[in-house]
Amino acid sequence: MEGKEKCAVFGIYSNKPVFDLIYYGLYSMQHRGQESAGIATYTDKIEIHKAEGLVSEAFKGVFLEGCVGMGHVRYSTTGESGMGNSQPLIINYAGGSFAVGHNGNLINSLELRMQMKRRGSTFATTTDTEIIAKLIAQEHLKEGDFVKGIKQAMNQLRGSYSLVILKDKKIIAVRDPWALKPLIIGRSDNSIIVASESCALDAVGAKIVRDVKAGEIIVIDKNIKSDSVISERLAHCMFEYVYFARPDSIIDGLPVYEIRKKLGEILARDAPVDADIVVAVPASGITAAIGYARASNIPYGEGLMKNRYFGRTFILPEQIDREKGVRIKLNPIKSEISGKKLVLIDDSIVRGTTAKRIVKLLRDFGAAQVHVRITCPPLKEPCFYGIDMQTHGEFIAKENDIEEIRKQIGADSIRYNSIDSLIEAIGLPENNLCLACLNGNYPIKDKQLKLDV
Ligand code: AMP
Ligand code: SF4
Repeated sequence: MEGKEKCAVFGIYSNKPVFDLIYYGLYSMQHRGQESAGIATYTDKIEIHKAEGLVSEAFKGVFLEGCVGMGHVRYSTTGESGMGNSQPLIINYAGGSFAVGHNGNLINSLELRMQMKRRGSTFATTTDTEIIAKLIAQEHLKEGDFVKGIKQAMNQLRGSYSLVILKDKKIIAVRDPWALKPLIIGRSDNSIIVASESCALDAVGAKIVRDVKAGEIIVIDKNIKSDSVISERLAHCMFEYVYFARPDSIIDGLPVYEIRKKLGEILARDAPVDADIVVAVPASGITAAIGYARASNIPYGEGLMKNRYFGRTFILPEQIDREKGVRIKLNPIKSEISGKKLVLIDDSIVRGTTAKRIVKLLRDFGAAQVHVRITCPPLKEPCFYGIDMQTHGEFIAKENDIEEIRKQIGADSIRYNSIDSLIEAIGLPENNLCLACLNGNYPIKDKQLKLDV
């Protein structure tokens, strides 16, 4: 199976050793991937360490020298776990060697892999990242220039990719021509940094310079040098704002926290309900619940306590783990909910499993009514660009109308934000966003059926 990954990348050029800063940067982006972590630095050659598990586990007792380096945390779907596919990936070829970390998913990977195999390439992993890296290496040799090689490779890549590359003593940041996945540059006194999310810049004491632009290639050494391929259109992933990114990040100039709060406020405006308390599904619903509470004048309360040491249930590859996960993850606070009419806020419903279990849990602990309010409009179509919800069968909203969903979840009422409300909350023009999992309007028009699941 090819790679379908939502990950985080981090790169840094400095005049001081960078290992600790990469570690902190990755640590702050742990929410983007918990399966494995890797760091590569440059001394007179590339040094690398990668291991399974959380950042805090993967680098115990490890230190790598070097003032230039990069890191990656990885999430993977079923069937592609294991260290073979972990990143950064190192490529050795006639043009030297480089390390690459990738966040995203190609939609033409099968085709590219086949073409490249016919031309004699061999592959050691099943990831898109290796396809990207080998393509860049091939094109570098053809063009005689590394950045030109990247441009030639980009002209053949379809899909989402935010890349950080460590080549010689340089960091190179690359963002796909649709800017689907986030990628941002920052600067501190000693360093230039590139990261998937701005929270990683905060973590290392850097300030935002700007987002990497759609189709842009930025070479970072002492200076920042920019090149680019043509961008067809922007298609920033709406789900980063709704769910995936950390709320303290700023993506493409927009603060995620403010958008989530606004999504809650709009829900209160458009889907009001007579209730005693606003409760969030922690942690994904908290910011929107604050917005809903403020806009509705219904008090916000902590109706559910989350076990802090539990990872994202959804992020575990096996269904069995997810099911167990929801049971041990949350515990209601009886005094806050018993006998009360609740508004329950979460970011999204995929299969409906989480909402159903939580509604039941709240009722078991005495809630008089549970009104579910969801900030993300109904998810109906698979994501081909790296977010783990690829198959139609997974979506409760695909086949069922709102009343049927209400029944299945066992709520007293359920309402979602509309797509227009989502666009209003994000504040970008509709055609600058990817909304494909909501409306089937895929921003990259060709090759949508090449999904290899
Ligand atoms: P479900 O239980 O299948 O309806 O999934 C919805 C829950 O999973 C919500 O609480 C979301 O916060 C969370 N969620 C939605 N999409 C994803 C995703 N792609 N990865 C991880 N968690 C998700
Ligand atoms: Fe994001 Fe949905 Fe587009 Fe996937 S289909 S990139 S989750 S908006």
